[in-house]
Amino acid sequence: MRPHRAYSPGLTGVLPLRESRHLLEVLRAKVGDRFTVFDVDREAVAVVVELGPPVRYRILEERHPEREVGVEVALYPALLKGDKLAEVVRAATELGATRIQPLITRHSVPKEMGEGKLKRLQAIAVEAAKQSGRLRVPEVLPPIPLNALPKVEQGMVAHVGARSLVREVLDLGKSLALAVGPEGGFAEEEVELLQEKGFIPVFLGRRILRAETAAIALLALCTAGEGR
Ligand code: SAM
Repeated sequence: MRPHRAYSPGLTGVLPLRESRHLLEVLRAKVGDRFTVFDVDREAVAVVVELGPPVRYRILEERHPEREVGVEVALYPALLKGDKLAEVVRAATELGATRIQPLITRHSVPKEMGEGKLKRLQAIAVEAAKQSGRLRVPEVLPPIPLNALPKVEQGMVAHVGARSLVREVLDLGKSLALAVGPEGGFAEEEVELLQEKGFIPVFLGRRILRAETAAIALLALCTAGEGR
């Protein structure tokens, strides 16, 4: 079997059905094949002992690789049209977000998200965690109205009219919350409300970025750009 990482909550020795099917139907796993299993902060080399489904495995060796940013990183992208949040969730997972929760804002065109779409975004986070070698899968939570956001320890809101740059305000000793507006931008009152909740407006350059590009750029400056 070619090298593979499977998500196995709790490393219980039994793969979830979705993972089992992938191993059996795509990778044609056989008893005795080795692969990697992972959960929030653990990773292990495992060997297939029973095909099932579900596939049962035995752990051969545990590892504790460091792949997390080191602080909680919450991303709050505005609800976007079509499938744009899928791109945001995939990249945000690769870039180390620990929580992704869409915001319902004044200019968001969709004002809600169905259960099916939420499940799909959660599945994308699992896939992206696997591909990027992360042990922790970020929580992908149902949308909340912007005014329901809690006060944050350290926050930044991407805003076209802002003056501060990320590197001038970022402190990776504190948990981080990042907000990005919808296609039509945040209303000024929304930016003011976010500021009251601890979000500092930041500028992402001289061009107007698509909302999904802005979310990825902001997160990348905070994590990848800092070597985290
Ligand atoms: N006309 C809208 C405005 O002025 O806000 C443009 C919205 S832009 C397509 C979508 C979101 O991406 C914005 O609400 C903001 O959060 C973020 N964004 C895009 N370009 C940006 C930039 N250069 N600096 C900071 N944030 C930006």
